[in-house]
Amino acid sequence: MNRARTRVTACFLVTAFASGFAGESRLMRFEFSQACMGTLFRIVLYASDAEAARAASDAAFRRIAELDNAMSDYKPTSELMQLCARAGGPPVTVSEDLFRVLTAAQDLAGRSDGAFDVTVGPVVRLWRRARRRHELPDADRLAKALELVGYQKLRLDPKQRTAQLLKPGMLLDLGGIAKGYAADEALATLKRYGIESALVAGGGDIAVGSPPPGKAGWRIAIAPLEPQSGRLTARSRIENPKSKIQNLLLRDAAVSTSGDAEQHVEIGGVRYSHIVNPKTGMALTGRSSVTIVAPNCTTSDGLATAASVLGPERGLELVKAAPGAGVLFVKETARGVRSWKLRFPSAGGSRITVAQANPKSKGKGQRPEVKKAPL
Ligand code: ADP
Ligand code: MG
Repeated sequence: MNRARTRVTACFLVTAFASGFAGESRLMRFEFSQACMGTLFRIVLYASDAEAARAASDAAFRRIAELDNAMSDYKPTSELMQLCARAGGPPVTVSEDLFRVLTAAQDLAGRSDGAFDVTVGPVVRLWRRARRRHELPDADRLAKALELVGYQKLRLDPKQRTAQLLKPGMLLDLGGIAKGYAADEALATLKRYGIESALVAGGGDIAVGSPPPGKAGWRIAIAPLEPQSGRLTARSRIENPKSKIQNLLLRDAAVSTSGDAEQHVEIGGVRYSHIVNPKTGMALTGRSSVTIVAPNCTTSDGLATAASVLGPERGLELVKAAPGAGVLFVKETARGVRSWKLRFPSAGGSRITVAQANPKSKGKGQRPEVKKAPL
């Protein structure tokens, strides 16, 4: 989780500490950012004064750091790695946070038929090495690593709040879900400090609370998936009239994008993603970007990774069965960039308000708070 990388998928179009009276409410706008979990976490909030804003954001960042310390698979001292060190042994009592994330992960693993699987750690490690060395993982090593993968080999006991890894050598990787949980928890922390209008973005995972004063929602722009440079043809542009910026207005909801934007490797002309198929041990190939809107960011983060593995058809089925979730799946195919949509961006559930920004208001109305550029 503590990767030395920065994500560019979420970039704010606004300057830090820009402030001013917003509508009649006399709340001022503040923005803060801090590197954590291998990405840049940003908080935009409305508060009555700088002191209140600073105290709330400090507490939110402390909460994110606390979760990183528990769930990082890069820090040998993390609670997660301590649990993995006891793989093959008896059940281990874990913290409430870790148990909650593992429970959400196992639930999604079941619903996605194992497409989402946090036991994928040994395979992910081999692909990280492959990215560094620019060579494919060794087939034998991959086969051995795969023997340690399978969400059924992770047992949770809610009564005892324990987790048990059934095979020695197993490794958990929460990279596909923990940033979303951290964004949710940071937002909840801000609320405890009396901040209702807030946005927390951890890379491509964004959780929002009440809208900015006087606004219907937080405006988030999702950039289109462009075909690989050099392969962008007039044809693909013509064939993909929908390949343009999508605007979302979100309140009390979350949005996550999974794609191969930054973390990928090209070997022998093939582009391998940092997301792997837990059944085959192979990294995903081809260019795709999956954006999920959901009632919370733990859900959107996990679903985005899961749907990426499942592909458009099965991915949409998975999202369809998730209450309040919607999806925009964009994928480069032999015939150009194609997109699939379900409950996106129109309302996806009672707690979600999603509205397409009025194109006519471009330049005059509310500017996007976050511009997501999946690829
Ligand atoms: P990002 O971390 O870039 O936001 P994702 O949320 O899609 O992107 O998470 C990708 C990360 O999830 C990988 O870097 C890896 O740590 C982990 N991962 C890869 N494949 C899977 C999978 N099939 N199921 C669960 N986690 C995965
Ligand atoms: Mg994810």
